[in-house]
Amino acid sequence: MAQWEAVIGLEIHVQLATQSKIFSAASTAFGAEPNTQACAVDLGLPGVLPVLNYEAVRMAVMFGLAVNAAVSQRCVFARKNYFYPDLPKGYQISQYELPIVARGQLEIALGDGSYKVIGITRAHLEEDAGKSLHEEFADSTGIDLNRAGTPLIEIVSEPDMRSAKEAVSYMKKIHSFVRYLGISDGNMQEGSFRCDANVSIRPAGQKELGTRTETKNLNSFRFVERAIDFEIARQIDVLEDGNEVVQETRLYDAVQDETRPMRSKEEADDYRYFPDPDLLPVVIRPEMLEEIKQQLPELPGEKALRFTQEYGLNAQDAENLVLSKEAAEYFEQTARNTNAEAKRVANWVTGELNAALNQDDLEIASSPVSSSMLAKLLNRIEDGTISGKIAKDIFRSMWAGEGDVDSIIESKGLRQITDTLEIETLVNQVVRENPAQVEQFKSGKDKVFGFFVGQVMKITGGKANPQQVNRLLREKLK
Ligand code: ADP
Ligand code: MG
Repeated sequence: MAQWEAVIGLEIHVQLATQSKIFSAASTAFGAEPNTQACAVDLGLPGVLPVLNYEAVRMAVMFGLAVNAAVSQRCVFARKNYFYPDLPKGYQISQYELPIVARGQLEIALGDGSYKVIGITRAHLEEDAGKSLHEEFADSTGIDLNRAGTPLIEIVSEPDMRSAKEAVSYMKKIHSFVRYLGISDGNMQEGSFRCDANVSIRPAGQKELGTRTETKNLNSFRFVERAIDFEIARQIDVLEDGNEVVQETRLYDAVQDETRPMRSKEEADDYRYFPDPDLLPVVIRPEMLEEIKQQLPELPGEKALRFTQEYGLNAQDAENLVLSKEAAEYFEQTARNTNAEAKRVANWVTGELNAALNQDDLEIASSPVSSSMLAKLLNRIEDGTISGKIAKDIFRSMWAGEGDVDSIIESKGLRQITDTLEIETLVNQVVRENPAQVEQFKSGKDKVFGFFVGQVMKITGGKANPQQVNRLLREKLK
């Protein structure tokens, strides 16, 4: 059987966080009653003219600068002509030959400590279309034009990814970038961040690309991973059965966990792009570029580097923390307010906190345990009031809203036992009650030591100070 290599390129659509639309003054707020936020321009009424929103341009330029791309000094809007009920003008205003951003790159972590650079072919500005509503209507389709004219950037990658995991990690990185830059809320449920996945396979070692399919409108990281993995497996089956992959657009069905054909190359679109005569070319002067450069915030890469230098974290921990701007801020606030080592803080944020957030499907902003609560908890480990293990129980209690660390320690009697006499009494008891294990230990079976520690911990409900238990047991069993 041949060895197959997958090749993946993504087209990511990012809704820009402007107040108003890209070519009109209508609001972009999500969730309004249908067609209450569509003005004459968005409705495509005759005789109206688009006026470009400066904010949309500024945000696209910011993105370009952040991914070290070439920001075009001059870019042009083009009409992409096609008919669709939710596109009343009969064309979408996009960019074609002269996009605003070209030739960028982004480094992704592969999870094994190595990194890979993914090329960004281009990013262009365009307007979103409206929405067709099928479910709410029995025998007709509703059209909601609130979304028509919402500014997007479409970010097109080079076919540089080789697995679904790489594609997801690239997509997550782009997601984290647009959030850091403040140019999009990145809300995937609301469609502010979605992607089309182009997938092909080829025999390992072959240079030419295989025939690709494009799976449209994936709006979660999990769906992207599933859809790509499904496509890779499907295409391998097709080729190994002696057939050919058909170049086509496909849809991912999350319920069936499969992709299905939508339209094929035969019906491929010819959009008849041409420069929109209603809009002047956009010229970006060096002063404007400089001004936007000054607005760039600290980006994940720089932040990760600073975390390694300022807090002594290793590269992997730093990478994990900066993936989310909010997690990075939470970490810094906690680290500033606790005596615990930064490494321990990082472990708690990426470990306990992250797991709890995932389990309850919460964003860090709505975490029931605030950074100052976590800082206090870690202080109680530092000052010996509780053990690390008990701290995890207390964390879960705080998560459940049972109060702050000190009140939970008091009400549940979780204070660590550090009284030497008390621990010694327990050590004596455990040794007395387990003569067989004592024999084993004395005949050289060192592993039995852990059994004794475990027994003392069990009697005390995990509250005995582990260092003291160890020390006293060693003395006793000498
Ligand atoms: P289109 O606009 O028709 O979708 P593009 O040439 O702009 O075509 O390519 C879109 C995306 O498809 C890009 O991200 C590109 O990297 C990717 N791509 C192109 N060819 C392949 C291929 N053979 N296999 C996988 N991805 C591909
Ligand atoms: Mg495409």
